[in-house]
Amino acid sequence: MNTASYVGRFAPSPTGPLHAGSLVAALASWLDARAWNAGRGGRWLVRIEDVDTPRCVPGAAERILAQLAACGLLPDAPPLWQSHRGALYQQALDQLVDSNLAYPCACSRKDIEMAHAAAGHAHQRHIERPYPGTCRHGLRGRTARSWRFATTDFMKKQAQTLTHQAQHASFSIAPDGLRWTDRRLGPQQQDVARSVGDFVLLRADGLWAYQLAVVVDDAAQGITHVVRGEDLADNTPRQILLQQALQQPTPRYLHTPLVRGADGEKLSKQHGAAPLMLDNPLQALQTAAQVLGLPALVHPDNTRLGDALSQWVKAWMPLYNRAL
Ligand SMILES: [Zn+2]
Repeated sequence: MNTASYVGRFAPSPTGPLHAGSLVAALASWLDARAWNAGRGGRWLVRIEDVDTPRCVPGAAERILAQLAACGLLPDAPPLWQSHRGALYQQALDQLVDSNLAYPCACSRKDIEMAHAAAGHAHQRHIERPYPGTCRHGLRGRTARSWRFATTDFMKKQAQTLTHQAQHASFSIAPDGLRWTDRRLGPQQQDVARSVGDFVLLRADGLWAYQLAVVVDDAAQGITHVVRGEDLADNTPRQILLQQALQQPTPRYLHTPLVRGADGEKLSKQHGAAPLMLDNPLQALQTAAQVLGLPALVHPDNTRLGDALSQWVKAWMPLYNRAL
């Protein structure tokens, strides 16, 4: 019926309840969906990203859904749970293996460190090193621990296929990296092969990697617009590469401002951010709206939740819909 459709999503990890920072991303993605097509609205979905099961907290997903409901942010379909979708992730990995775009890796973290040391790279603490490519051309009798995406080979191949790139307005792949345009941050660039290398798809502990699960689910749910926190912006190039490798469409991306604590650090569950209180959802939403640059409510004390959300839907369009 409507080919220019919109499907957005909010995809929290249930490692704790929503806090002031995650509410900003939730509100932004909801507003973006509701403001679509001059306020006629698109679809808005919620996906529970519980693929990293050891990090998930029992009951946190239910609490997040209750917090969203209290804030009037209701999804248009029942939430999707990543922990139930292993078979789909396996299919995607099989597809990549069949296309020679994924390979088994026998390296432990220590092996990777040693390969870097042997290459004369200085050791830097707390910096995730790009994979040195040890198993790219075979395991040489070692046992596979994980599966990796052939980033380096794929980027070379894609960069050669110039006609293919011309079809995409929002990104391009060149030998020196991937360029893409964020609706808020503008033009972005990352040399994925150099900064990340051949990244993990299936982890040594048997869990599916975040990047693969996100790309498979965004495609399966028909997501057209991803709105999420700026801390995830540097995942975007890896996800665009996987979308291309799996022959799936690339959504548009909008990364929202982060909320910082008094110490200047990004608010996060790991950093001990206070859970969002449900006794005054409008107040919490007003704080989130302010972070997003939305105008203050004219009569904050006499405005109902639904009316506040409607005001922000109208204000959202000129602010963020200019670059769909
Ligand atoms: Zn390896």
